[in-house]
Amino acid sequence: MKRGKKVWLAAALLTGAIPASAGIITFTCSSAFNSAFDPGGSTTAVCSYLNTTIAGEYGNTFTNANANIYIDVTNSGLANSTSGFYNLVSYSTYQTKLEAESTDGARTTVPASEPGIFGSLGVEITSALAEALGITRTIGNGFVDGTTASGSACTTYATSGSGCYNGIIRLNDPTDLYNQTSGQGYTYRGLGGSTNSSTSNYDFFGVVEHEMNEILGTSSCISTSGSLTNPGNCVAAADLFRYTSGGVRTFNTLNATAYFSPDGGYTDYQGNLYDNTANGNDWADFLNSCTFVQDGFGCPNGATFDILSDGTGGTAGPEVAILNAVGYNVTAPEPGTMGMFGLALAGLVVYKRRRR
Ligand SMILES: [Zn+2]
Repeated sequence: MKRGKKVWLAAALLTGAIPASAGIITFTCSSAFNSAFDPGGSTTAVCSYLNTTIAGEYGNTFTNANANIYIDVTNSGLANSTSGFYNLVSYSTYQTKLEAESTDGARTTVPASEPGIFGSLGVEITSALAEALGITRTIGNGFVDGTTASGSACTTYATSGSGCYNGIIRLNDPTDLYNQTSGQGYTYRGLGGSTNSSTSNYDFFGVVEHEMNEILGTSSCISTSGSLTNPGNCVAAADLFRYTSGGVRTFNTLNATAYFSPDGGYTDYQGNLYDNTANGNDWADFLNSCTFVQDGFGCPNGATFDILSDGTGGTAGPEVAILNAVGYNVTAPEPGTMGMFGLALAGLVVYKRRRR
């Protein structure tokens, strides 16, 4: 059976806490979303910004990041996303396609023969990544599934543009976020304004980027409870680049240091550290705070977090490198490999994933 997955980005409820060729990404915004997020009273401004500025960033960054994303509201947490249904392919299918399609050197760290750590189990890829790599069938010769707006499975290749999405992003509506967090809100970058009057604001588009990255393929597929060693036939493509030290790939990093590395674990890319706690946290978010789009801790202080500037010295950060590694090719010279960033703690965001 195929299972769906969902990744949550939840605002913490701490008392008094603040706490070339180009791909095309298209957002379809629900009417509830448009009504809830209306800077300056405009119910079209946010969706338009998503389809121009944000989609443009990804389109200008990657040659093959194509995705149809449905965006809606929820009433808890900060945001969540789902890529719909698991698309499992064999290790050899993924490795062969990556070797054929990727221009990133990270592909060479995915060996032709399956490492023993897999135990002959599958690799989970998002439907967007499947399309980027030209993978059309999953294990058992099934189609690559996406999701309808209401959460039903649909075939992304067959129904692209007709209501079949590569993923759904849901953001907590401003009223609920405000009430549940004692006053937190969102800011809208160049669109101006915020959903509350304090400085306790998240960068709205940074939150969207976080969820976009997961729909494209930064998510882990490893359970964060119980046995963590590829327990559910479910290692995601991004997990292949998860290391604890040079040459040591791991799928089980509970309470241990783990990081994304594009070169076999020898470089801890820009100081990213993966979430290493169980209890349903998002295993592919970073534990750094107020540093990256994919931080495990949110940063409700009005700062902007963008994949093109959250790296060292304002360069593209680890999210671009991860997406590049798993199969999305970049249009420009790749971002450099940098050292550690300091960690800053402000505010707390708890991530958890859900299966259904
Ligand atoms: Zn996340």
